[in-house]
Amino acid sequence: MKKVRTRYAPSPTGFMHVGNLRTALYEYLIAKSQGGDFVLRIEDTDQERYVEGAVDVIYRTLKTAGLKHDEGPDVGGDYGPYVQSERKDMYRPFAEKLIESGHAYRCFCTKERLEALKETEEYANGGYDRHCRDLPKEEIDRLLAEGTPYVIRQKMPLTGTTTFTDAVFGEITAPNEELQDQILIKTDGYPTYNFANVIDDHLMAITHVVRGNEYLSSTPKYDLLYEAFGWEIPTYVHLPLIMGKDAEGNVSKLSKRHGSTGFDDLVNEGYLPEAIINYIALLGWCPDDNTEMFTLSELEKRFSVDRISKSPAVFDYAKLEWFNGEHIKAMTVEQFEQIARPYILQGLGGKKLDTLKIAAILQQRTTKLTQIPEAIDFFGELPEYDAEMFINKKSKTNAENAPVMLKAAFDELKALPEWTNEAIHDALINLAVKLEVKNGTVMWPARIAAAGKKVTPGGAVEILEILGRDESLSRLEKGLEKLGR
Ligand code: GLU
Repeated sequence: MKKVRTRYAPSPTGFMHVGNLRTALYEYLIAKSQGGDFVLRIEDTDQERYVEGAVDVIYRTLKTAGLKHDEGPDVGGDYGPYVQSERKDMYRPFAEKLIESGHAYRCFCTKERLEALKETEEYANGGYDRHCRDLPKEEIDRLLAEGTPYVIRQKMPLTGTTTFTDAVFGEITAPNEELQDQILIKTDGYPTYNFANVIDDHLMAITHVVRGNEYLSSTPKYDLLYEAFGWEIPTYVHLPLIMGKDAEGNVSKLSKRHGSTGFDDLVNEGYLPEAIINYIALLGWCPDDNTEMFTLSELEKRFSVDRISKSPAVFDYAKLEWFNGEHIKAMTVEQFEQIARPYILQGLGGKKLDTLKIAAILQQRTTKLTQIPEAIDFFGELPEYDAEMFINKKSKTNAENAPVMLKAAFDELKALPEWTNEAIHDALINLAVKLEVKNGTVMWPARIAAAGKKVTPGGAVEILEILGRDESLSRLEKGLEKLGR
């Protein structure tokens, strides 16, 4: 059996849409689930669309996402070069072969003629009238001798149909008369995407061509090229559309108006690469049981083409957030502290506190890293808060008992010989027992005084421990002042 080889073939546009990343992921998984190779090829033949630095975005994204390519421009391989502009001269001889075999022709039409064609009713929406398809040989020789610029076009059959099989969408048949005589080689000598893609997939021994289903309608043209060369046709795997849902519940192709669609943007918004990967793996594929949580290496074992769906998938930001929270919970606290640290430091605003302890109280309730700075900003600086906050029905605190509880707590804590979680916990619990109140009646005022906020990660004990003795006692004192004690 032939070794499975897939390729991710992005055009460097400087932006990695989640749809592109899903394509890359599925290519990677199809290769890795079958012990194959995953190749990166840069399709930059459209020089007008060239974007500076765009290739680096591709490398960085693949690396961050963990999709390691076995061959590519940066790592080399036996089928290089892996950048199409560096392969420029390889394509023309193939196009000339097609001219010889009657599958392509030179088109000398000027820009002006093609523009004029667009003015006609028949070609208003593009297309070519096949003007040069049957030029007499003498005419061609004369134009060539004069050095007239030309493109090379594919000569589509005018009758009959072309049928191909897609691993996801099944058998598809297109009438040949609908196929345009598309350009293979442009006047600047560069191949078009449509041509270079086929030549390279063949030369690089690609077995599975995986891409978005916007290419489905072009596939008959690619098939005709493979046939003209007598090459083996790869397995086509076209992926379902990714849709987005707006506030009204309307579904349309995923775009900026639904939320961030770029990998970098999602990471900047606080989503973990592994959660993004886990989520997008399920946008168009599902395992044969209800498993949802996957690491990349688990996906490598489980993935299979036959469970890719052809129905559009809806990108649900709430679901992504859920996955993110689950991936955060699944980490060790040390791992979490490492990724959360920049956000914690931002929240602390220069104050030096134990980030591991802060990470520990955050981990179970964080679903997005960007929530962290605001969630813990009170550690950095005690916010202005209202004395009303000491009153809480559920904890049975009121205007009378709150100052009493807080003063008692302050005295107990001040007397503690050591400032540990256990010591603080025991002191406050024993106090509640002694005063014959519920724990919350002591804890609530202590936490409000320590944090100045009703909602905090962690309770009074954790917060006091992290703040340290001096800062804690000073905050409790401030609280007492607020309560008029
Ligand atoms: N360069 C094409 C793109 O970025 C690749 C399509 C394909 O995988 O064949 O859309």
